[in-house]
Amino acid sequence: DEHQAQEALAGNLCRCTGYRPILDAARQSCRQPCHDQFDAQQAQTIARLKAIAPSQTGELNSGDKRCLVPLTVADLAELYSSHPEARLLAGGTDLALEVTQMHKTLPVMIYVGHVAELKRIEQTATHLEIGAATPLTDCYQALNAQYPDFGALLHRFASLQIRNQGTLGGNIGNASPIGDSPPLLIALDAQVVLRQGERQRTMPLEAYFIDYRITARQDSEFIEKILIPLARHDWTFRAYKVSKRLDDDISAVCAAFNLSIEHGVVNGARIAFGGMAAIPKRARACEAALLGQPWNKASVERACQALAEDFTPLSDFRASQQYRLLTAQNLLRKYFIEQQTPHIETRVTAYV
Ligand SMILES: Cc1cc2nc3c(=O)[nH]c(=O)nc-3n(C[C@H](O)[C@H](O)[C@H](O)COP(=O)(O)OP(=O)(O)OC[C@H]3O[C@@H](n4cnc5c(N)ncnc54)[C@H](O)[C@@H]3O)c2cc1C
Repeated sequence: DEHQAQEALAGNLCRCTGYRPILDAARQSCRQPCHDQFDAQQAQTIARLKAIAPSQTGELNSGDKRCLVPLTVADLAELYSSHPEARLLAGGTDLALEVTQMHKTLPVMIYVGHVAELKRIEQTATHLEIGAATPLTDCYQALNAQYPDFGALLHRFASLQIRNQGTLGGNIGNASPIGDSPPLLIALDAQVVLRQGERQRTMPLEAYFIDYRITARQDSEFIEKILIPLARHDWTFRAYKVSKRLDDDISAVCAAFNLSIEHGVVNGARIAFGGMAAIPKRARACEAALLGQPWNKASVERACQALAEDFTPLSDFRASQQYRLLTAQNLLRKYFIEQQTPHIETRVTAYV
């Protein structure tokens, strides 16, 4: 259908004809389906692809380049301890750019995508526990059920093809200041479980990011899972992504607001942004300006001014410093208006 065609097309940036003729062609060919050799061989193709999965921890080599392929977390921890210089490879949607765009060589990689324990999603009484190597597409259902705005943001995350391949752990592991999931996870008070050898430690995600591409992760330590508190009825979570294109585009600003308002007074606030600093970061001054205050326009305006204390964003080709700050302030205003008038539905469709 139209939606499926749009979703499939999102991963293709057309620079010549535009999208309308492509969608017209898709519509036309769907009206006259004709079976081809790929349909005829679908079952065998799937079986052959599945058979590629290794049955034991192993290694793939190409010349002097090595890719180690563990099948269990214990093997991964051991291999990484013996090869602290190795790069972890999950979906490769970010790491591969170091090869194709920066012309780096990666002599040793450890592929985490065959470690079943890292691809599990579990729900406990208090949390969602998502294995670091879980593809974003597989995270969608659980996250959307708890936080519909998280689900809506995932629809705007890259494109279907990238979401099928890219993982939640990779989105944290690359420590990008404009990664989409970290501000949402920070606003939700998520934690990361890190593993090094047999040692496991858990820390709030907001403490994981230290400075531009510098994280609390130590040598041979990897992200094992992400713990996300389940939704609570007394908190309202909303997320907004502002980018130039609807699909397949990185945020200029990504905002996540998680507030608890009781009897008209703000008694809990976790607000985090991407694209506003060298790391995904909480807006502490903004939160402080709201806490204990009546939830009204005057408080929101003071909190908007406080955002200027929290952030001195960069100007780059995505957006200027002034644009980023004004956008962050306007997103808080938008959150406020949407809470006052819940029928207004303007959330994730915002773009530059
Ligand atoms: C066309 C395109 C569009 C994109 N759009 C978006 C977007 O809209 N929003 C967005 O946020 N990102 C976007 N990205 C970036 C990327 O897709 C995401 O960051 C994705 O989540 C990365 O996951 P991955 O599994 O592919 O990571 P990889 O590329 O495999 O790894 C990324 C980094 O994380 C490290 N790493 C991986 N797993 C672990 C682990 N378990 N523990 C510690 N470190 C680990 C790797 O060593 C590497 O340094 C886009 C990329 C492309 C190519």
